[in-house]
Amino acid sequence: MPVRIAESVTVSPRMARHAISQSHLWKKRLGDWVVNPYIGCQHGCFHCYCPAMPGVKFFNGGRPQEDWGHYLIVKPGIVEATRRDLLRLTPTQAVRTQWGRGIILVSFLTDPYQAAERSYGITREIVRLLLEAGHFVRIQTRSDLVVRDFDILSAHASRVLLGTSLPYLDDNLAKRLEPGAPAPSKRVAMLRRAAERGIPIYAAVAPFMPWHTTQVLEEIAGAVLPLNPVEVFCEVLNPRGRNLRMMQGALGPDAGWLAGYKERWPMFTASVLADSARIFGPVSSLWPDPKAIAKLPDDIASPLHAWVPSPG
Ligand code: SF4
Repeated sequence: MPVRIAESVTVSPRMARHAISQSHLWKKRLGDWVVNPYIGCQHGCFHCYCPAMPGVKFFNGGRPQEDWGHYLIVKPGIVEATRRDLLRLTPTQAVRTQWGRGIILVSFLTDPYQAAERSYGITREIVRLLLEAGHFVRIQTRSDLVVRDFDILSAHASRVLLGTSLPYLDDNLAKRLEPGAPAPSKRVAMLRRAAERGIPIYAAVAPFMPWHTTQVLEEIAGAVLPLNPVEVFCEVLNPRGRNLRMMQGALGPDAGWLAGYKERWPMFTASVLADSARIFGPVSSLWPDPKAIAKLPDDIASPLHAWVPSPG
């Protein structure tokens, strides 16, 4: 996929000064803080809702959602900004949040280990700085490039959680929907190597697709549960911006599921999360989108409230 890479861009004064932001991602149990080393993502997943999020669309120079995967902005000075932020953000201060875990997520609106990272090494430097400063770091990636940094991660394994997205195990489907990302089979192999090195791991069934059945959850369970993950996070396909239309463009006639998906989404959320809790058992970590819960009848919504994390 041809990608335009911008290294010299004008960013807001706040973005130039700071790298680590406090985050509401604790509501998904993902982190109290977040670092996004890049703007844009070479993986270009059609389901991705990041380009419709304020953290991207207000900083990407007005690029439309359809351009996602075709541009990458290398945040200028982000390693220096991380160093500066760490002067004030000690591990003691990092837990003074609503959630109170002090977890720094790398990353959420971009993939920290996309192909450009191979030459830039920005994520490697940021992760090293965070861990050497004593922080707890959660890494979320669709790439096996993270293997390069296992030396750093295994040296600080007690404060690392490394996860990868596994919405399905079908490498051919991934080629169509996640054209720039390494195949799911490579991600499973990466998790296996991490587990062998003693690095705590998790898998994110994200996003679970509307046409998939519990058989897909069972296949993922068969691949990851033997690796003793700390958790398996599950989230269904989230309609946001134009992502459903973009998936339809990628799947063509196979996209019949799209009709009425927005209306079916709340009930689909409830049924997938119940299946996921059953299949992944004690390691299941679920996030029922509050917008989906709000549209459900009380008797179906009530049990889901138990899966929503509370502050503190
Ligand atoms: S890897 Fe993640 S951030 Fe990148 S396009 Fe895919 S879903 Fe979006």
